[in-house]
Amino acid sequence: QRNLGNNESDVVVASPFPSINYPDYKLHELIWNNLHQWDKKTAVIDGITDRSVSYGQLRDHCRVLAIRLQTIFSLNPNDVIAVCLPNSIEFPIVCLAASEAGIVTTTINPIYTPEEISRQLEDSNSQVLFTLAALSDVVERAVSLTKRTIKIVYVKDKENNSLPAGGIDFNELLDSRGIDLNGLKNQESNVNDVVFLPYSSGTTGLSKGVLITHRNVVCNILGANSDMGGGSVVNPAIGNHQDTLPCILPFFHIYGLGCTLLSKLTLGCRLVTLPKFTPDSFLNVLEKYESSILYLVPPIVIFMSNYEKLQLKHTRSIKNLMSGAAPLGSQDIEKFQKKAPNTKLFQGYGATEASPMICISTPGSRNYGSVGCLIPDTEGKIVAVDDPKYRGVGPNVSGELWVRGPQVMKGYHNNPEATRNTITSDGWLKTGDIGHYDENGEFYITDRLKELIKVKGFQVAPAELEALIRSHPNVADAAVIGVPHDRFGEVPKAFVVRKNSNLNEEEIKSFVAGKVAEYKQIDGGVEFIESIPKNATGKILRRSLRDMLKS
Ligand code: AMP
Repeated sequence: QRNLGNNESDVVVASPFPSINYPDYKLHELIWNNLHQWDKKTAVIDGITDRSVSYGQLRDHCRVLAIRLQTIFSLNPNDVIAVCLPNSIEFPIVCLAASEAGIVTTTINPIYTPEEISRQLEDSNSQVLFTLAALSDVVERAVSLTKRTIKIVYVKDKENNSLPAGGIDFNELLDSRGIDLNGLKNQESNVNDVVFLPYSSGTTGLSKGVLITHRNVVCNILGANSDMGGGSVVNPAIGNHQDTLPCILPFFHIYGLGCTLLSKLTLGCRLVTLPKFTPDSFLNVLEKYESSILYLVPPIVIFMSNYEKLQLKHTRSIKNLMSGAAPLGSQDIEKFQKKAPNTKLFQGYGATEASPMICISTPGSRNYGSVGCLIPDTEGKIVAVDDPKYRGVGPNVSGELWVRGPQVMKGYHNNPEATRNTITSDGWLKTGDIGHYDENGEFYITDRLKELIKVKGFQVAPAELEALIRSHPNVADAAVIGVPHDRFGEVPKAFVVRKNSNLNEEEIKSFVAGKVAEYKQIDGGVEFIESIPKNATGKILRRSLRDMLKS
């Protein structure tokens, strides 16, 4: 099955798994397709309040909201709505309703500051924002910063939560009285239309809207959920309609959205949402709902290995655990296996620009250092960083990983230059990651060529922090890189050139503190230097900064 390339001068690795005949479904069609098998079963449970919806109710709510989006808000196909919600029952209702109505959803981190939210609302041209009543002060400030009219729909988090003036009540939109359930207009849209607009900084610069089409997500869900040639209905790591999955990865990020929410709704699993990670609520959900599959990021896997209160009663039912979004070392995996001997651990590797799955561990593999093989219908090549012809190299040689497949995004929103720099004319996505593959076609991610920093699996774009720090009146120049952190993976560290010699570390940190979300704080410290090392075109030489730290 393995094809490690037949052209010696440009070695392309093919997925070792059987190819799939993808149906021409839009996202909601894929999810509703098997609904008759489990329409009375629970789809989503709120892990804090125990409130739940069945699959049938979920589909009905989506249909009603889809019609409301077209009628009350007069939205047309390809218009954009924003969802700024923690993991909750309402999240899939909004996204799938938008999919039915031919509307694009941009997903915003609910812990963002007003400035961060307003930038995404503005750039995505969002017309309606779905959020929590408890976030009304933050989102109203964000909307006012955009200087646009954006309608705000509020989900009340407690029964007695009052709505801010002018706010629209989410629950009222789900009331089906007086609407024609066959009145949905969505004839023109097709599978190559955009369905999601998550934000990612990609290989360089500020966050950009990633154009993810119905076809991208549908192929990625079917590819990642396939049995990988193993002969079972689905990959045993992935789950089925009898499985319960605690959803702790945030749905605003493509890993939580694609791999937990959408992929598992497709399989009829029971999803338990948690709005944020707290050790007690997480342990409670593991035990109470007898969770059988888990999708996590390395910091939570490491937390589980070290947390004394975590006992066998919490992990007994967990068959499979998938870790992704950042590297997880083999030692950490072995430590986890000691604590949860009945659980099989898998690694996944992906990126927002690939909707997100690229590689997945093969069932039964114990090759823990590897992120596994390319998922079905995905090709990869390792390109030597200084090769002007961008040829793929053979096994065990390090270079930048490029991937090609049906999951690769359409491009960046309103940014043809960034799109051209990221996807080649023959369809290769440059991941900005450094790695290699072995003789079995298993891939290893060893470093990052791109400037992105990953804190707890979340993206931090150095360019954003650099622009912010440079806006301080006593700063002449700044550069930010990631430095290793034992629990978070990496944290940002700033190098600053002062204008005023009295400027100190605390002033920089507190200047940044209120302006960006918690995980973007300069927790790696501030170092004052004479000048920022740059090349002739003014690009920051981040490797020199890293070398400076090492020495
Ligand atoms: P994002 O777009 O936020 O999902 O970030 C994608 C980036 O996360 C990738 O390009 C990698 O740098 C990193 N990443 C994702 N999964 C893994 C993994 N399993 N091992 C190492 N790095 C990973």
